[in-house]
Amino acid sequence: MSSHSHNDPDRTSDAPLLAARNLTKHFPVKGGGSRVVHAVDSVDIELHAGEVVALVGESGSGKSTIARLLAKLMPHTSGDILLEGTAVTARFGRRFRNYCRRVQMILQDPFASLNPIHRVRYVLTRSISIHRGRMSRDERERMLRELLERVDLTPPERYLEKFPHELSGGQRQRVAIARALGADPEVLLADEPVSMLDVSIRIGVLNLLRDLKDRFHLAVLYITHDIASARYFADRTVVMYAGQIVERGPSEAVTQHPLHPYTQLLIASAPDADRLEEREATEATGEPPSLISPPTGCRFHPRCPFAMERCRTDAPPMFSAESGHESACWLYADDAEAERAAAFGAQTPGEAQA
Ligand code: ATP
Ligand code: SF4
Repeated sequence: MSSHSHNDPDRTSDAPLLAARNLTKHFPVKGGGSRVVHAVDSVDIELHAGEVVALVGESGSGKSTIARLLAKLMPHTSGDILLEGTAVTARFGRRFRNYCRRVQMILQDPFASLNPIHRVRYVLTRSISIHRGRMSRDERERMLRELLERVDLTPPERYLEKFPHELSGGQRQRVAIARALGADPEVLLADEPVSMLDVSIRIGVLNLLRDLKDRFHLAVLYITHDIASARYFADRTVVMYAGQIVERGPSEAVTQHPLHPYTQLLIASAPDADRLEEREATEATGEPPSLISPPTGCRFHPRCPFAMERCRTDAPPMFSAESGHESACWLYADDAEAERAAAFGAQTPGEAQA
């Protein structure tokens, strides 16, 4: 499906398909003078073809803002967005349209994202004609069917003439996914794609996204507040807190051996991880901080049971544990042994929580 990019002469071979470097978004506060909301601060993230990355964090941590920045729905304050290693700066014109075709977004609410006055046929026809240009009637008809089959809405004729209100939430989300596929994308940015759906059908939609990723070698960003579903669905997991990344690594490592105290709190407050279908995720205890004047040092320090003196003043950099598993926490600094012992005996924070 995505054969076009492989001929690109500018392509830097080992670069991630889509990446953000030092991505920052500050929203001005209405009537607040020069004050801003630090929604996203210096975030690095990489998406590779054929891989799902989960972006996890509680409400207000900046996840949706990252998706909207990557989708170019609004400008970023600073930092870079790189497609195959090349910074994307276009805001209009051919290059911009090409970017928008390659990087598609799937929204949380399929009710809001599908216009109620249009039939499925119109929604999909529009997507393919915007992104793929002219084609014969037969060709278009074949493509409409193929798109519906790809999202398991079969037989296609049963769905083509339907209006959104004639479909279930899950079917509607599948139409939204088919619309995104109509652009022949390489990246899917899925912002809480199943959280509005009935719990019983969530796994079906996540499995569909995973199958599509495998079949078409897509890079998928899966945004969720539910860290247990990240383990189930994503190859790598990135955890955000108050506009910053606090931990990242292979999903298995991040969810089974979380390093950062915030990730540990998220996991401890998530209901039974093995019963994905039967639960609603809950939020971690304690209040998220103000993003207008975020806490100094480590932004998690007011809620952290292990906070040390330096946590209040110095922002921790990313420290590597093993094989790509990293955490922004002073507990993992090479010189932190003594402080760790003072903070909670000789245990690791994981043991201390258990
Ligand atoms: P949720 O899961 O609730 O969507 P989130 O993690 O996706 O949360 P964002 O929606 O990215 O978080 O919001 C991050 C912060 O930026 C929040 O404090 C939010 O209030 C603020 N914010 C988002 N959009 C705007 C905007 N257009 N203007 C001002 N502030 C905004
Ligand atoms: Fe807690 Fe300090 Fe680690 Fe922040 S840096 S999570 S306050 S121990």
